[in-house]
Amino acid sequence: MEKFFRFMNGSPTAFHTIANIAEELDEDCFTRFSEKESWQLFSARKGYVVRNDSALIAFAMPLKQPKGFKIFSAHSDSPCFRIKENPQMPFEGKYVRLNCEKYGGMILSSWLDRPLSIAGRVIVNNEGELETKLVNVDKDVAIIPNVAIHMNSDINKGYEYKAQNDMLPLLCECGNDNAFDEMIANEVGCKTEEILGSDLFLYPRQKAGFVGMNDEFVISPRLDDLACAYSGMRGIIDAEGGDYIKVLAVFDNEEVGSSTKQGADSTFLEDTLYRIAESLSFSRTDYLKLLADSFMVSADNAHAAHPAMASKADPVNKPYMNGGVVIKFNGNQRYATDAYSAAYLRKLCNENDIATQNYANNSDIPGGSTLGNISTAHVSVPTVDIGLAQLAMHSAVETMGARDLSQMVKLCTKFFEA
Ligand code: ZN
Repeated sequence: MEKFFRFMNGSPTAFHTIANIAEELDEDCFTRFSEKESWQLFSARKGYVVRNDSALIAFAMPLKQPKGFKIFSAHSDSPCFRIKENPQMPFEGKYVRLNCEKYGGMILSSWLDRPLSIAGRVIVNNEGELETKLVNVDKDVAIIPNVAIHMNSDINKGYEYKAQNDMLPLLCECGNDNAFDEMIANEVGCKTEEILGSDLFLYPRQKAGFVGMNDEFVISPRLDDLACAYSGMRGIIDAEGGDYIKVLAVFDNEEVGSSTKQGADSTFLEDTLYRIAESLSFSRTDYLKLLADSFMVSADNAHAAHPAMASKADPVNKPYMNGGVVIKFNGNQRYATDAYSAAYLRKLCNENDIATQNYANNSDIPGGSTLGNISTAHVSVPTVDIGLAQLAMHSAVETMGARDLSQMVKLCTKFFEA
């Protein structure tokens, strides 16, 4: 688990997640390809491509003629606060707050009264060239303080937090109108005027770790969906053999609808699969034949039954933490699982001693959707939606079962090898 904790702690934003996955792939001799160049895959066999610094597709070729693609997908982003342009907001000449907005649907109150830091990427003008730099201030620099109960005595009866006022973090005392820009420039090692663009976010400083009398649970920010992204990364690195092209797709922007150039609702996956086939000198028909014998596992965390809200779950199809990999079903196909894809996955799990459990929404409560049904609109292959059972989804700190992670890693590895 130490490696997983290090990965979680070192991945405060989607940009850092992708950089960390790329670094692991580099160490395992994957070749980095650019979408701007032609690809020669026969010599490389293992490669990856990054889009927007925040999404990544890795692939590994079989030794024989491939039968199709085996695709494992997850997402790199998590709900958080995005820092707006002109972020410094002085208060009565005394304090400075940071102007932020919501990214994705989060539990706002979970961000209060905990140390926060700032990370993301900036685009720097480096002698006429636009250069991307990752930033991680990696220090407790901000806090969103609650209002004292004496001034809001009904708070425990429910309170509607307004992002534009209630959720702005305290950054420093007044005195320097340029303090924020200088902190970021200092972190990057450039002048403030050289920074021409930024994607910066707040992140909670809570470190990943065990909780529970017997270390049976894990808490961390961003378990949704970095636990699955990490499992996919381990799977494609560890898997050996197999007759299929192994594909790991980690998309950005799942939390805001996926419809960006680096999201699951983009051409990224279809473009990449086509380029792989093209570099193997496959015809269009040969490519379509590969797709016809392909399968996708869409991995995104699932809601574990909550002891305080048992009525919100389906009466029987409710998973528990440490109960194994969750297979998600939905009648309206918000999850892409069907009889065939469920059977395919259950067979794989049965043959490899991987426990599975089922998830369906309570029929009176609409659930979320995920990567599977969005991605299959572009790359139409049988798909199963799965995940790890967790509590407090989209809270600043989430909880999952400590024994489940190894099940997901094993599933991904065996999926690629089968
Ligand atoms: Zn998710």
